[in-house]
Amino acid sequence: MTEHDLPKITSSFCYKVRQIDQPQEILFQIFKRFEEHAAIITSGQLTGMIIIHMAHENGIPFRVCTIDTLRLFPETYAFLDQVEARYGIQIEQIKPNLERVNRMVNQHGEFLFFDSKDKQEYCCHIRKVESLEQLLTDIDVWFSGLRRDQSENRQRIPKAQVIEKKGRSILKINPLFDWTEKQVQDFIKEHDIPINPLLMPKANGQFYESLGCVICTTPIRPGEPKRAGRWRWQNTQLEENKKECGLHFSI
Ligand code: SF4
Repeated sequence: MTEHDLPKITSSFCYKVRQIDQPQEILFQIFKRFEEHAAIITSGQLTGMIIIHMAHENGIPFRVCTIDTLRLFPETYAFLDQVEARYGIQIEQIKPNLERVNRMVNQHGEFLFFDSKDKQEYCCHIRKVESLEQLLTDIDVWFSGLRRDQSENRQRIPKAQVIEKKGRSILKINPLFDWTEKQVQDFIKEHDIPINPLLMPKANGQFYESLGCVICTTPIRPGEPKRAGRWRWQNTQLEENKKECGLHFSI
């Protein structure tokens, strides 16, 4: 499929996608039109796994990509291998520019994210956002597992939206945007979908709810906000300390 065959990403096309009820139908319709120009981008957490599973069950050979910051948990790398084996897919691991990572580390130290919110964002930018930006030059449709009830900051996430990047329009689709935690858990159980062992509750009741890099991600206690385990040392009362890495909200 060449670029000329692809539908234009416009607000009216986005509107049509929003009218489709079932996530499986969205996957089908988008793949039919965009093939390798659409991708599921996931860190292998619950909703990303559900989308991968839905594509697989419906025989839709979707491209699956993950942003590898080079600082993920060993359990996450092992889990991604397991997902590849289970679904017979190859997950594209998008890595940061090593020269830029080394320059950042030489200049600010390996643990710069402890110094300030700005340096945490800088690290996330070099290790995650730039990789995503690179990937987005190659795709027209981005499937994401964001849900409204994951945090206060995500409560207005739409089912689909057009984002502009470097002069290109990209359709970002959050097919499970309005799913509740219970729907997610029930679907995972019902379909026996593999989950990252880090997301399983620990004996002391703590568990990881949201997974990112080692050190920057800690487990949460029952009752804590879902993203409380991310950059736990930051003062969460401050507006600028929203628990986001910039992947979804600076693009
Ligand atoms: S989560 Fe932490 S280590 Fe990972 S990119 Fe962001 S600041 Fe850097």
